[in-house]
Amino acid sequence: TQAVHDKTLKVLLAGPRGFCAGVDRAIRVVEEAIRRYGAPVYVRHEIVHNRTVVEELEAQGAIFVEELDEVPPDGHVVFSAHGVPKTVPAEAERRNLLYLDATCPLVSKVHREAERHFAGGGPESRHILMIGHAGHPEVVGTMGQLPVGAVTLINDAEEARTVKPADPSRLAFITQTTLSVDDTAEIVDILRERFPLIEGPKREDICYATTNRQEAVKAIAPECDLVIVIGSPNSSNSQRLREVAERSGARRALLVPRLNELDWSVLEGVKTLGITAGASAPEALVQEMVAELAKRYTLCIDERTVKEENVIFRLPAPLG
Ligand code: SF4
Repeated sequence: TQAVHDKTLKVLLAGPRGFCAGVDRAIRVVEEAIRRYGAPVYVRHEIVHNRTVVEELEAQGAIFVEELDEVPPDGHVVFSAHGVPKTVPAEAERRNLLYLDATCPLVSKVHREAERHFAGGGPESRHILMIGHAGHPEVVGTMGQLPVGAVTLINDAEEARTVKPADPSRLAFITQTTLSVDDTAEIVDILRERFPLIEGPKREDICYATTNRQEAVKAIAPECDLVIVIGSPNSSNSQRLREVAERSGARRALLVPRLNELDWSVLEGVKTLGITAGASAPEALVQEMVAELAKRYTLCIDERTVKEENVIFRLPAPLG
């Protein structure tokens, strides 16, 4: 209506937001595989946690499956950016499938850390505490680098306070890459206090993209009546962005997978709107939302970039 159209809305765009280098690379892996080997190319699990990305790749000839038994004998299969347990490439080899691994190099780095601490299960071996969220594919993949029992999952501060490792002098910790920086710092502090000999990264294994996106949303949150995080409910880093926005002073923060899922009534009374996007959400979704807002409001847009990013990962060997 005219009344709505006359309204002014201040929009703060958090930067960096959206695609990280690992997501960008995983998408390129699928596209390049289709180009080289022809459609269909199978992808085990959502390549990144975003429906729009998945649908665009499906349109190019990707077929998404949850397990390898859904891939025909001569199929090409890509493993998602989140990483996979060791049993998955082993199974692919057993079945003579041609596979490409789109695991983010920053997740692979954590896999190697875990293996280093485990040290083949010999006398130097340390029991590993993994800080992360149960059931997330990255956690399943990282824990699956080692035999069952080598890693104990720590979901939260409470579990860090109560975990009872067999040998507290031979411990190490690793973390999921997409956690809340603040929550993880608290958990690491608890572990270091309880187990002074625990080994681990200096702070945690949270990646640059997760850290930067949380910092960027923190910078705008105190000014915002509402922060919209464009991202999927199964995207860990997007969920964390929503929580960080609320804890950092936004009156309200919402996860919106895409424009058609936005309930416009949430904008009632909002004078300053913050927008960010999870690491798996395409920038086009942000621009689409801004364009739609511009039809309803007179916008005053302010890009707030806290850090420039210039990380690019090369494609894995057979494609690179
Ligand atoms: Fe890699 Fe971080 Fe992106 Fe995950 S969020 S794919 S770890 S860069």
